[in-house]
Amino acid sequence: MTERYADVIIDIAHEKVDKVFQYKIPTGLAQAVYPGVRVHVPFGRGNQEKVGYVVDISEETDYPAEKIKAVLGVDEKGMSVEGRQIQIAYWLKSQYGSTTIAALKTVLPVRQKQKPLEKKKVLRCLSAAQTAQAAVECAKKHQRAKARMLAALETEEELPYELVRQKLNVAASTLQALEKQGYLTIEKESCYRNPVRMTDRQENRPVLNPAQQKVIDGVMGSYREGHPGVHLVHGVTGSGKTEVYLGIIEQMIAMGKQAVMLIPEIALTYQTLLRFYKRFGDRVSVMNSTLSAGEKYDQIERAKSGEIDVIIGPRSALFTPFPNLGVIVMDEEHENSYKSETSPKYHARETAIYIASLCGASVVLGSATPSLEAYYRASLGQYQLYEMRERPGNSVLPVVHITDLRKELKEGNRSIFGRKLRSLMEERLFQKEQTILFLNRRGYAGFVSCRACGHVMKCPHCDVSLSEHRNGTLTCHYCGYQERKPEKCPTCASPYLMGFKAGTEQVEEAIHREFPGARVLRMDADTTRKKESYEKILSAFADEEADILVGTQMIVKGHDFPGVTLVGVLAADLSLNRSDYRAGERTFQLLTQAAGRAGRGERPGEVVIQTYQPEHYSVVYAAKQDYGGFYGEEIAYRELLGYPPVEHMLAVLIASRVQEEGEKLGEQMAELIRKEMGEAGGLRVIGPAQASIGKLSDWYRHTLYLRHGNYQVLVEVKDKLERFCKEHEQREQTVQFDFDPMNTY
Ligand code: ADP
Ligand code: ZN
Ligand code: ZN
Repeated sequence: MTERYADVIIDIAHEKVDKVFQYKIPTGLAQAVYPGVRVHVPFGRGNQEKVGYVVDISEETDYPAEKIKAVLGVDEKGMSVEGRQIQIAYWLKSQYGSTTIAALKTVLPVRQKQKPLEKKKVLRCLSAAQTAQAAVECAKKHQRAKARMLAALETEEELPYELVRQKLNVAASTLQALEKQGYLTIEKESCYRNPVRMTDRQENRPVLNPAQQKVIDGVMGSYREGHPGVHLVHGVTGSGKTEVYLGIIEQMIAMGKQAVMLIPEIALTYQTLLRFYKRFGDRVSVMNSTLSAGEKYDQIERAKSGEIDVIIGPRSALFTPFPNLGVIVMDEEHENSYKSETSPKYHARETAIYIASLCGASVVLGSATPSLEAYYRASLGQYQLYEMRERPGNSVLPVVHITDLRKELKEGNRSIFGRKLRSLMEERLFQKEQTILFLNRRGYAGFVSCRACGHVMKCPHCDVSLSEHRNGTLTCHYCGYQERKPEKCPTCASPYLMGFKAGTEQVEEAIHREFPGARVLRMDADTTRKKESYEKILSAFADEEADILVGTQMIVKGHDFPGVTLVGVLAADLSLNRSDYRAGERTFQLLTQAAGRAGRGERPGEVVIQTYQPEHYSVVYAAKQDYGGFYGEEIAYRELLGYPPVEHMLAVLIASRVQEEGEKLGEQMAELIRKEMGEAGGLRVIGPAQASIGKLSDWYRHTLYLRHGNYQVLVEVKDKLERFCKEHEQREQTVQFDFDPMNTY
């Protein structure tokens, strides 16, 4: 029998995980030693016995075999919380491809001792009426931050300090000034004596409607029966999904369990967080990118020791080491930010399902526009599906208009505002109501379309749009197909065949030109570079300091602006024509979510979608807010072409200093897979081809795509390629794997 070795780390601090020691696994322990298990090993010169964690198993070693010591025994205490985290890291590494160290660092927190996080609260000192009066006076004096703070305190007697600082965007100096004026006090947790006060727990709770009750009963019922499972809640925006999450988490806590609540950072709004604080008080903690490493570590220690029951945060909150996890909830399940962009390139959905299976926990996914993946699995019966079609109360869905930009051009309108949008904007300015203009600049990836007829230049082999390169060629990033850019549109012979290049800045200029006097705020990657400026722009807009907010996709997420009664999507096609099979899905999601921004207050909203392809199914179904119709068309397309979720896809990204070597490595890899695994069994090997960004900081990039119906076949491919790379390792070359990629490379 071949010898097997265990890679063991003695100290599992994040910064020490690269200190890995190899031990032989005695045959008697072959079954008992696997990643995550605690083992006793002889350590150092004196062979002192120590406890370590197994992080990997291998059949090879870089040392002379006779020099390697053997594992002494397996720890009797069973799997620990830390062991489980290592198990998760091992799974990440094997499912997504990465080094053991990168996987461990993803899962384990940076150990950094610091003074425990000091919890502070902002307490109201005057009555609600007096506070409201003060808020009005501050608003009159244009003291907007003060007004915002006081208005929040009118309804809440006390608020967590971090919530006020971060989400209400009130500066510490403003708080001090208000404290001096006698409107509020700031208290430290340690002198805080009445933990239930903030959580007027029983009040203001809506009576759940039957659709909501059905989800809670379904999730809790299967949990109690011992089949926690995965549940998908498809509910239109405002249908009461958050209320459902609160209900499920509450029941879990009552059973002594803990909960992970995943929310994309961009959707972590004041209103949403407040609801969690009100329901769970000090038992909830919020994880976000503004926390320091020390604060994060402290938070994780508190989770481990049972001081908190709920953690709210983005993707990485998944790895919170709760001793008794009951449920992982994933709101806005379709969001791209759930996929890690660095290695291991894990998806939070799949990882949540794996972690839940280890802990016997439930998974609840929620979205108004579920990902094709989730809805497809639900249709196969792998997830339990719940539909929530109505909004409680009487808020109505907005009226949607579609403008055909081809017609606008034909009729002589060259402005980026179609006539419908222009007249509605004028109306709003006159009525002092707010408008959001949305430009999906992210979609600008060099696609080329005809401004006269809307024809898009596509790859004849892949049904994705071609990208324009500077030298005038059009390239397909899936198969490498190339052609010269034609002089005229192949469909209508118009010379207006061009890339769409308007950015948010140009839109802002156009507003100044065409609507003089309108007050504009712009939000995009440029204006939000500083940490707090995102919140700043949002609160300025919420305070009605501007009439029009122009922005990229970051403005369409989860924010409520009651003053907004018009949403304009300037060119819906921008996301449609990404050279990417997910383009239709992304467009549908963005349009549906953008439409959901209009008319959140009392007044009904209107939406204008401007597009060169008004007949495209993503546009048509988004305008009707018809998810089912969209899903039907989209899944048929994926089935036809074998794209995820119907089949799985593995992208291999090769970066190389020397162009030819990258290409050669790619070819060798493709050949190896063709030879060893064959194209039989449905494995498709596509490429190598130059990546869409062919050169990045002087590294040449090539891609290889593999597709198969069975994910584990692709994992096998990845394992083979990893071994191959190890043997053929070149200096100045890196290979990365990305399963079911969100973007093409
Ligand atoms: P979603 O998360 O689906 O967008 P929310 O849970 O935020 O929906 O609910 C939208 C609004 O409706 C919130 O203001 C919420 O308080 C309210 N709401 C939720 N459920 C009910 C209910 N059963 N009765 C009355 N109002 C409700
Ligand atoms: Zn044309
Ligand atoms: Zn192609």
